[in-house]
Amino acid sequence: MKVNSLMIAAVSVAGGIANAEIHGYPDGPKLPGLPYSVHDPARPQPPVIVPAGAVSVKPPSDAKVLFDGTSLDAWNSAGGGPAQWLVKDGAMIANGKDMQTKESFGAIQLHFEWRAPAGRKVDGQSGGNSGAFLMGLYEVQVLQSHNNPTYPDGQAGALYGQLPPLVNATLPQGEWQSYDIAFEPPVYADGKVTRPAKVTVIHNGIVVQNGESYLGPTQHQKLASYPPTHPETAPLRLQFHGDPMEYRNMWIRPLGKRDQAAPAPAPSAE
Ligand code: MG
Repeated sequence: MKVNSLMIAAVSVAGGIANAEIHGYPDGPKLPGLPYSVHDPARPQPPVIVPAGAVSVKPPSDAKVLFDGTSLDAWNSAGGGPAQWLVKDGAMIANGKDMQTKESFGAIQLHFEWRAPAGRKVDGQSGGNSGAFLMGLYEVQVLQSHNNPTYPDGQAGALYGQLPPLVNATLPQGEWQSYDIAFEPPVYADGKVTRPAKVTVIHNGIVVQNGESYLGPTQHQKLASYPPTHPETAPLRLQFHGDPMEYRNMWIRPLGKRDQAAPAPAPSAE
């Protein structure tokens, strides 16, 4: 799809944003079983709710701490080399390139807090955009979505390009927000997906994705689908989308199967 197909739709948005101009891609590929397309500006906007605030959870005993406020030791730059993100005042700030964990993970629980710096101009997908790519493949969108309408499958808590959040639970710009995520990779048998990747996302204490399935690894302006082969583990990647988004208190727990010991994280291929 071409840039000139970007369209603005006038829609009524729950929560008081009326006739907002929604940038999106109305003639993108149709999503299976739905009357909407990828990045559809006319897809219904999730209801806006007011959360009580971020939920800051300290790492439990079996967590791997990915950021404790002081060091990027757990991270490399995506594609190799030292991480380029900045560390300031207990936060790591998106900078330069995507960043990925040195260790690889499969099924996980992930906690982190994020914010868009106050005072920065935010407009749709611009100004306050990042994302957590589970296994480096499956994005949970990070976007400053308070009073910032955009295509619903691109707002905070969306499975980008696939599934909007159940509600918009985004706090005002400049405030810390929390994500708690549980994720399972897809299951393959004989080169076919027998169970898709599954994710639950809790945003500021509110369920916004409830055991949902990914259609495949995240795509922009394309319909996602599963590749013929898939790694069992892969690094977690954080997106640098040009915006100095901040993260803190990030930890991860590999999830074992019931009645089995939890697997140790595998070393990254990079
Ligand atoms: Mg993003």
